[in-house]
Amino acid sequence: MRWYYCGMRSGSASAGARNSPGLSELAEQVSACRRCPRLVAWREQVARERRAAFAAQEYWGRPLPGFGDPCARVLLLGLAPAAHGANRTGRMFTGDRSGDFLFAALWRCGFANQALSRDREDSLHLTGAWITAAVRCAPPANRPTPAERERCLPWSVAELKLLSEVRVVVCLGGFAWDAALLLMRALSEPDAVPLRPRPRFAHGAELERGRYRLLGCYHPSQQNTFTGRLTESMIDAVLVRARGLADTSR
Ligand code: SF4
Repeated sequence: MRWYYCGMRSGSASAGARNSPGLSELAEQVSACRRCPRLVAWREQVARERRAAFAAQEYWGRPLPGFGDPCARVLLLGLAPAAHGANRTGRMFTGDRSGDFLFAALWRCGFANQALSRDREDSLHLTGAWITAAVRCAPPANRPTPAERERCLPWSVAELKLLSEVRVVVCLGGFAWDAALLLMRALSEPDAVPLRPRPRFAHGAELERGRYRLLGCYHPSQQNTFTGRLTESMIDAVLVRARGLADTSR
């Protein structure tokens, strides 16, 4: 029996997951996680104190499950939720400038039905893509520690095992790239033995690990997009490449 079908649209934080029992259960477990004391304290403090512009809003204030198409062939791996972005709205990359840039690119490249990403009820749907992050709680100064990344890794392992159609992982920044390398090892991909030297992150870098292809892309942070380090055409080229690889992979 199939519980969901490929190409099914999914918009809210766990809309895709709701239609797949495994992903739904995982989303519930992730959103209750308290393994990292520093991040738990920070995400909850931010949710209590709030930014003045969002004072009337109820912040999510919990870990973020991934969201998107359960039959996605392309997975986008970010760094961590932003304190007043995803930690507020409860959906990855939603509610801040990074998300505005990313979802506009996903829309231009045919992975999203709209460029707008405002909140969990904004009718955004993804097709062929799933968005998640190396660390699922908002970190102070947007800087999770390597130990927090390792502690959060089992959630990504469990998620990727359930997303059995994924073949391409777009790593948004060097932190996500390193997390993806750890993820490949944890999944025991046949040729995912430790690489010496460790493959370095670069925009446009590609690496084959078992059945997965990793693609490097600068993170769509304001620091990168405002300075022109990451332009619309640069991120579009990565997404088009990801789609091409996904379409031709077994
Ligand atoms: Fe749990 Fe990950 Fe959040 Fe740590 S960062 S508390 S492991 S969800």
